[in-house]
Amino acid sequence: MSLILYNTLTRKKERFEPADPNRVTMYVCGPTVYNYAHIGNARPAVVYDVLFRLLTARYPKVIYARNTTDVDDKINAAAKAQGVPIKTITDKFTDIYRADMGALGVLRPTVEPCATDHIGQMIAMIEVLLDKGHAYAAEGHAMFNVPSFKGYGQLSGRSRDDMIAGARVEVAPYKKDPADFVLWKPSTPDLPGWDSPWGRGRPGWHIECSAMIETHLGATIDIHGGGHDLIFPHHENELAQGTCAHGGATYAKIWMHNGFLTMDKEKMSKSLGNIKTVHALLEEAPGEALRWALLSAHYRQPLDWSDETVTQAKTTLDRAYRALERVANIAATINLPPKELLDVLDDDLNTPKAFAVIAEWVTALNTATDPAIQAELKGALLAAGAVLGVLQQDPKDWFAAQSKNVDAAEVERLIAARLDARKAKDFKEADRLRDAIAALGVVIEDRAGGTTWRVAE
Ligand code: AMP
Ligand code: ZN
Repeated sequence: MSLILYNTLTRKKERFEPADPNRVTMYVCGPTVYNYAHIGNARPAVVYDVLFRLLTARYPKVIYARNTTDVDDKINAAAKAQGVPIKTITDKFTDIYRADMGALGVLRPTVEPCATDHIGQMIAMIEVLLDKGHAYAAEGHAMFNVPSFKGYGQLSGRSRDDMIAGARVEVAPYKKDPADFVLWKPSTPDLPGWDSPWGRGRPGWHIECSAMIETHLGATIDIHGGGHDLIFPHHENELAQGTCAHGGATYAKIWMHNGFLTMDKEKMSKSLGNIKTVHALLEEAPGEALRWALLSAHYRQPLDWSDETVTQAKTTLDRAYRALERVANIAATINLPPKELLDVLDDDLNTPKAFAVIAEWVTALNTATDPAIQAELKGALLAAGAVLGVLQQDPKDWFAAQSKNVDAAEVERLIAARLDARKAKDFKEADRLRDAIAALGVVIEDRAGGTTWRVAE
């Protein structure tokens, strides 16, 4: 079966056909880095990580970009309150985000661009929009003119009245149309800003993603993802400005949106204050259990989070690792993910069904006595686990980490820092971090796909 994905734009499931099968492109809107990520923020990171793994298993080259928004009014407010430059805050929380996602088994995307490195590209894109008559400059702002794009509203399916209300516009005097949105806005001297043809200022949020997509992936991308809350206005606006800047070229072939993670049926969000940070949850449960819990519901459905969700996930993993531990001395025979598993994932990433398939194999492994069947089932479990990003630890380590209480988040943080130090060719710092990791009772191994770690004997 080929990969089928639900496209928010067409409101139906579609066969995935990349524009260029030799260069598949995917972009996911990442975090605004001014605070600890909550487990709801981790849902898109984990869901699109499974998709990235699935695509990588099928296509020779997949370029996955996940940005960090490192200039934003919430960041500015935090920096002001703490009396530090925004970079102090964004660097710190970018590192924490990477470490937290690493602890959830999320692979590093191919590129992780941050907005402030692309100001020049944003200005250039805005200038193209101005030239083509889709934008105008007014009072230090550059604004996108919504009526200039006929297709506006197609992604969210909103009526014009809804859109105007939804955009929460206080109709500023410089707007030609109430639905027009900001591409560039002026900064007062106390706020971060860059020189531009419209004066010193900073970009609007939407143009950041379009400029990073254009820079790293091109005019048309295969998949654009994010959480459901991003459909309007963020993605509607990205679609409008991206299409207009590129003379009508398709901006993204497939739009994907994950459902909300809720607590007591209410969306988890910083503004409501009902959050559980990944950082805090990692103190209570292994990252792999949190990952399993996040994937236990279909990505488009809501997922209600509770202690029970995590306990159940951990119990299921204990059972799977126990079954694998019993066949530790048997070599696995197959190493490609079985078709039965790929078929359910190919059906719009049906992870709950994939977990049901895995549970059946665990049951079969628990009752199997024929070494050939045991070897086959073990191979199936490990290969399926690799696509889902689970069951890749040595069972001994899974149980040992729990009894020794290794701080997985801290290990992942140090590994990410070591990787950055090596990238920067600061080998002294990389060695220091390696020693710090060893001091936690953990052994690391550098492999082609990244650094793995396990609890020392
Ligand atoms: P933010 O840092 O708020 O921009 O969010 C980062 C990502 O997390 C975006 O893709 C959001 O759509 C997503 N997100 C935020 N809250 C939730 C939630 N409660 N459930 C699922 N996804 C969420
Ligand atoms: Zn975005």
